[in-house]
Amino acid sequence: MNKPKPLSSPLKVGETIGILGGGQLGRMLAQAGKQLGLKTHIYSDEHDATAFQISDASTYGRYDDEKALDIFARSCAVVTFEFENVPNATTELLSQQVPVAPPPHALEITQDRLLEKTFVANLGIPTAPFREVKDDASARAAFRALAAPAILKTARLGYDGKGQALVRSEDEVIRAFLEFGAVPAILEDFVDFTYEVSVIAARGRGGTFAAFDPPKNEHENHILRRSTVPSPLDNDSAFEAIRIAQQIADALDYVGVLGVELFVGHEGKLAVNEIAPRVHNSGHWTIEACATSQFEQHLRAVAGWPLGDPVRHCNAVMENIIGAEVEPWLRMKKMTEGLHIYGKGEAREGRKMGHITRTAPKA
Ligand code: AMP
Repeated sequence: MNKPKPLSSPLKVGETIGILGGGQLGRMLAQAGKQLGLKTHIYSDEHDATAFQISDASTYGRYDDEKALDIFARSCAVVTFEFENVPNATTELLSQQVPVAPPPHALEITQDRLLEKTFVANLGIPTAPFREVKDDASARAAFRALAAPAILKTARLGYDGKGQALVRSEDEVIRAFLEFGAVPAILEDFVDFTYEVSVIAARGRGGTFAAFDPPKNEHENHILRRSTVPSPLDNDSAFEAIRIAQQIADALDYVGVLGVELFVGHEGKLAVNEIAPRVHNSGHWTIEACATSQFEQHLRAVAGWPLGDPVRHCNAVMENIIGAEVEPWLRMKKMTEGLHIYGKGEAREGRKMGHITRTAPKA
């Protein structure tokens, strides 16, 4: 493999940012592109990807279709992604031809919960205590080393609570491990947190950094229900959460927006749960409430433009609209501010169909 193409001069107005993935995150990135005068080209393996409705160009292709990826790369000045399960081979292939941001190694680390937690812990940042699980023996040893209850998570391809099981005994760990298909996994302590927050932040080329105010996040059935700003975090803890995100972004030599999910324990003690190497669902409120949205910020970072001001000018609550919940929103007679409908076809259970951000003056 040759060396990856480095990011060079900033993109000119009218140049194209390629985006791997065509979900709502890609859609909102494409919307931000329109605002900034940058073109977007979405590459997705779903023929009806919602982001195709907005982007300037679209390619429907598999992530291992080298010919399609080659044509895609030629049309882009830089390539980014909107989901973390892009195969490594895809970003590696693309990075021979075109700069890729965030850097592919950030994707590699964050795709694997064990690599990710080890990386964070090695930076001296608190996480839930964890152990690798790769067979029956390591599953039993992991359970004995940790406090019950614990959570078994598949190392790869888990999202919205998929591939996770709460376990209370050695036998339950083994059962869950086998149920997941005996794939590599991680066992971690169940954290008795008071609430969850996330830091959505951007790192620009050359190490500039800008973080949004950390929202409090509430989940239902493992899916994000609501993000609220301001969160109950005191100033010191908010500052510490942002410092942690910056340390992670610096260590990854990151370019773009990332989300760092944290548990807030008693007395404000923070522990990192997860890193998302992309724009994040808990940052959607930045569209209405901040001088620069997370989507604009991400495009600015990958384009090599100066980062925008992340200042929050109002309070906000973002709620996801999931599955059939979208129906009444489509029949609303009154004009509704802050409503985003993603234009997806079928309102399947658990599918994110839209969101609404309600704002209020800053107290
Ligand atoms: P994850 O897929 O790791 O983001 O987990 C999804 C959600 O499950 C988190 O947002 C938490 O609400 C919960 N969760 C995950 N890991 C733990 C843990 N170690 N202790 C307690 N709750 C957890």
